[in-house]
Amino acid sequence: MTTNATEDYRSDAPTKAEHEGKSSPAKALFCGDIVPSCFWPFPQFTDEEKEMLGMVLDSVDRFLEDKRDDFRQWDEASEQPEEFVQGLRELGLFGLIIPEDHGGIGLSNAGYSRVLQQSGRYDSSVSLTIGAHSSIGMKGLLLFGTDAQKEKYLPRLASGELTAAFCLTESGAGSDAASIKTRATKNTDGGWTLNGEKIWITSGGISNFYTVFARTDSDAGKISAFIVERDLAGVSTGLNEHKLGIRSSSTTTVSFTDVKLRPENLLGEEGKGFKVAMSILNNGRTGLGGGAVGGMKTCIALAAKQAVERKQFGYSIADFGLIKKKIADMTVDCFAAESAVRMVSHYIDSGYTDYSVEAAISKVFASEAMFRAANESLQIAAGSGFMKEYPYEQILRDSRILTIFEGTSEILRLFIALSGMKDVGMSLRELKLATDDIFNHPIKGFGLLSDYAGRRITQLTSLGQDRIIGTVPDVLRDDALVFEKYTLELARMADVLLRRHGKAIAEKQFALQRAADVVIDLFVGLSVLARVSSMDTDDEEQFQQALSIAHMFSQQAKRRMNRNLRAMLRNEDESAKSLADYIFEREKYPWDVL
Ligand SMILES: Cc1cc2nc3c(=O)[nH]c(=O)nc-3n(C[C@H](O)[C@H](O)[C@H](O)COP(=O)(O)OP(=O)(O)OC[C@H]3O[C@@H](n4cnc5c(N)ncnc54)[C@H](O)[C@@H]3O)c2cc1C
Repeated sequence: MTTNATEDYRSDAPTKAEHEGKSSPAKALFCGDIVPSCFWPFPQFTDEEKEMLGMVLDSVDRFLEDKRDDFRQWDEASEQPEEFVQGLRELGLFGLIIPEDHGGIGLSNAGYSRVLQQSGRYDSSVSLTIGAHSSIGMKGLLLFGTDAQKEKYLPRLASGELTAAFCLTESGAGSDAASIKTRATKNTDGGWTLNGEKIWITSGGISNFYTVFARTDSDAGKISAFIVERDLAGVSTGLNEHKLGIRSSSTTTVSFTDVKLRPENLLGEEGKGFKVAMSILNNGRTGLGGGAVGGMKTCIALAAKQAVERKQFGYSIADFGLIKKKIADMTVDCFAAESAVRMVSHYIDSGYTDYSVEAAISKVFASEAMFRAANESLQIAAGSGFMKEYPYEQILRDSRILTIFEGTSEILRLFIALSGMKDVGMSLRELKLATDDIFNHPIKGFGLLSDYAGRRITQLTSLGQDRIIGTVPDVLRDDALVFEKYTLELARMADVLLRRHGKAIAEKQFALQRAADVVIDLFVGLSVLARVSSMDTDDEEQFQQALSIAHMFSQQAKRRMNRNLRAMLRNEDESAKSLADYIFEREKYPWDVL
C-alpha cells in the first residue's frame, strides 16, 4: 500500500479519450466526470453464458443443498473432509476460470463471481475453498504465467489434482505487504533458494501449488513471485488455525526452508512481484464480492421467513416498522452490492486496464454490507439468532473476516482516495501550468489548455453537468441529479484537499476516509441507477420495487455524502487524535464513576 500517491501525480495524466474509453470510471468521478458509457447499458450475460452458468449453478445447488447440517458440524470440527473437497473438484469447481483448452470451464469473471455467489448462499468456507484456489491461488499463473508454465500447471489445477493458495502475509507483514522478509536468493545456475514463513494462508493445509512472494532485492525490484509445489524438499505447513469464523476453511502457516527453485519457478518478471500480488488481488475481488452477495441473499431469506413466522404482541413481527426497516435496508444493500460487483466484473471481462479503485470499492461495500446483513438478520431472530441451533451466529462469525483479508477496509479506503486523487493532482498541476500561460499569453494561453484541464475548469464552474440525465428514465431523473451534483462536490473536495495539504494529504486519513466514502456512494449508486434503468419491465411489480430501491439508495447516499462533505469543514478530528494518543499513553480507559 503506497501512502504517497501525490508524489507520482506528475506523470501520465489521463487524456479525455482515456476517461471516455476504458480507463477508471471511479478516478474520473474524482475529476468531476461521470463517463456514461462506463455504466450504461448495465452488463448482461450472453445467452450462451447463461446456459453454461445455469448448468454450473444447478450442479452447485444439487451438491450443496443437502449438506447444511454438515457445514455446521465442519464448523465445529474446524475442517472440511477431504471427500467433500474431492467432490468440489469432481464438479469442476477448481477449473471455473481456467480456459477450456487447458481443461477448465473458461467462465468470465462475471460468471465466476456468480458461481461464488451461489456457493456463498450455503457456506462461506466452501466459497473460500473454491475462491482461494481461483481468485488468488492460481490467478497469478493465469495473469503472468508463461505458455510453458500454463501448459505445465493449468490442466492439473483445473482438475483439482493441484489445489492453489496465495502466500503473501507474514507475521511482520500484513497490510504492509511490501515489508515481507521471506527471501529468495539467486543461485549460480539461475535458480533460487527460498527461506521464510507465511502465516494465515487460506487452504494452506490442503494445497500443493503455492504462489509465493519473496524478497529478491536487486536493481530489477525488491519482490518477486514464485510458483512453489508442495512436494519440494523444505516446504511444510502448520496445523489449521482455530478461528472465530470460516472455521472449516483451512488456514495454516506455510514454511520454506532452503527450498530449491528452478529458474522457471519465477512467476512474471524478476523484481515485479509486488505488482503481481496487487494485480491478483484486484482481479480476484469480485470472487469475494460474489460470495458476500450470496451470503446477503441467504440472510434476507432467513430473516424474512423468521419475521413472518415469529409472533409477538399478537402480531407477526414482520408487521412492525422497525423490522420492515431492517429487511428493506438489507435488500437495498444487497441490490447495491450486487450491482457494483457485477459492474466491476464487466470491466475486467471487457478489457478495462485500470479497475483497481472500482474493485476496491466493490470489496469494501459488499463486505461491509454483508456484515450488516448478518448482524441485522441475527437481530431479527434475536434470542434464537444467538443460539447455535440456528444458522445466524455462524453467518455472523463467518462474515467478520470479509473486511479483514484481501485488504482491510481501512487500507482499501486509503487506497481508493489516494488513487483517485492522484489524477486530480495531475490535473491541478496541468491546470496551474495552463493558467500561468493564459495570464502570460492571453490569446495563446487558451490553446495551451489541455483537454483535461479545460474540462476540469468547466466542471468546477458547474457547467459540466447533465452527463447522465438523458440516459435514465424520467422517473430516475432526480436520483441521477443527486449523483451528478455530488460528483462535482467530490471533485471540489479533492481540489481543496490537494491545494490545502499537497503531498501531506497522504497523512490526512480522516479526510481520505471521507473522500473514499463519497466515491463509494457515487460508484455504487451509479451502478444501481444503470442497472435499474436497463432493467426488464416485464414484471411490473418487481420493476416498481427496483425503482424504489434506486430512490432509497440515492436518498441514503445523499445524506451520507452530505455528512461527509460537511465534516470536511467542521469536525472533531484533532480532538479524536488527541484523545486516542491520551489513551495510547495509558493503555486503558482512565475514568471511573466510583
Ligand atoms: C482467516 C484469514 C485468512 C487469510 N488468508 C490469507 C491468504 O490466503 N494469503 C495471504 O497472504 N494472507 C491471508 N490472510 C492475511 C490477511 O490478508 C491479513 O490479515 C490482512 O492483510 C491484514 O493484515 P494484519 O492482520 O497483519 O493487520 P495489520 O496490518 O496489522 O492491521 C491492523 C489494523 O491496522 C489497520 N492499519 C494498518 N495499516 C494502516 C494504515 N497505514 N493506516 C490506517 N490503518 C492501518 C488495519 O486496517 C487494521 O485495522 C488471511 C487472514 C485471515 C485472518
